[in-house]
Amino acid sequence: MNILILGSGGREHAFAWKIAPSPLCDNLFVAPGNAGTANIATNLSITYNDFEAIADAVLENNVELVIVGPEEPLVNGIVDYFASRPDLSRIKIIGPNKAGAQLEGSKDFSKQFMQKYGIPTASSRTFTVETLTEGLKYLENHPLPIVLKADGLAAGKGVIIAEKHAEAEQAFKEMLLDGKFGEAGSKVVIEQFLKGIELSVFVLTDGEHYKILPEAKDYKRIGEHDTGLNTGGMGAVSPVPFADANFLKKVEEKVVKPTLNGLKKEGIKYVGFIFIGLMNTKGEPYVIEYNVRMGDPETEVVIPRIQSDFAMLMASTAKGTLNDFELQISPQTAVTTVVVSGGYPGEYEKGKVISGSEKVEDVFLYHAGTTFNGNTEIVTNGGRVMALTGLANSLENAVHKSQRAAQAVQFEGKYFRHDIGVDLIRYND
Ligand code: AMP
Repeated sequence: MNILILGSGGREHAFAWKIAPSPLCDNLFVAPGNAGTANIATNLSITYNDFEAIADAVLENNVELVIVGPEEPLVNGIVDYFASRPDLSRIKIIGPNKAGAQLEGSKDFSKQFMQKYGIPTASSRTFTVETLTEGLKYLENHPLPIVLKADGLAAGKGVIIAEKHAEAEQAFKEMLLDGKFGEAGSKVVIEQFLKGIELSVFVLTDGEHYKILPEAKDYKRIGEHDTGLNTGGMGAVSPVPFADANFLKKVEEKVVKPTLNGLKKEGIKYVGFIFIGLMNTKGEPYVIEYNVRMGDPETEVVIPRIQSDFAMLMASTAKGTLNDFELQISPQTAVTTVVVSGGYPGEYEKGKVISGSEKVEDVFLYHAGTTFNGNTEIVTNGGRVMALTGLANSLENAVHKSQRAAQAVQFEGKYFRHDIGVDLIRYND
């Protein structure tokens, strides 16, 4: 069958790389894709929020299955759009409809959902401009630090962890009164701070059955030893040594099952990925957030560990036969290091010529912000440029492979963290 992947990051290159060789895949398209996906699929220059243009491309290219990479088109209702058009209703989409996408699109919705279905999470309350005074009073008595979250999508920037009451009050007012984060900040969730270690668990569901994919830990901060500004993600590791079988069983029983049952009870037919951001607090899982798609760069460590045919996995998700699918996971460890443009996550320049990527060995190289300059030259086209994944029998070796490749790729202003996975080595001793 013909398959279309929406998105242009390392996540989408990893999906494409895994799907392209499948006997089930006749033609693979990526919209808009990057220089890496161009080598293994046909890039379509369509932005992923242009539903009409996507629909035209789907019909023109006889696409039967669409895999949605990023959250935005899901939250904006791409699944509902396809369902509303009789000429598209036979097309299968991996991703939830608008109702399901609220798990990520509205923090208030997801908190209420977790409270209703008894899913462990930090206690919280939601306020709007109408309840501003009440909110300020609530903040006054709230133990520190205080977590404030803009309700809607805010490109990963909508969470503020305030160490002082005055700071919390200011952030709260900025969101509700000054329109910081725009409409996304018109509701604010005030939440208890959870102490512990973070990890992410990924679930794939066909609306009835589910498979748990390998878990991962990501590294969000720009600086080594988790310092500096938050980014889209500077690296990731899978498996996560501090998530033992006992902990993962608790996640399945206390989080995954009640989440899927809750969705059913809400009348939401959810088909796609659920990315569960968790805090491991003294061995107990607490949900920090849901995302309604895979993570980036987590996908770049999850995909190399999936040994089963990924196109078949997607097809059986679309068909509702996930129960019959035998998911094979490699016991090896995957570590990915993301090389980024100098200045990221602040301002950075694009168009820097990339060299050395053809020489990297023994590593999976996933393009993110890359494009072609003319016919052959590959240049930078975003903050996060490439993700380099090492897969090995030990965490040390996977770290080493990933780091060596990150060194080898060259472009002006290149930066990467040298400590991805290093902090976890001691857990394996
Ligand atoms: P989110 O966008 O909800 O994933 O939040 C971004 C980051 O803020 C998370 O990855 C955590 O590191 C941190 N965070 C969010 N909520 C909490 C919380 N309740 N306690 C501690 N840290 C949190």
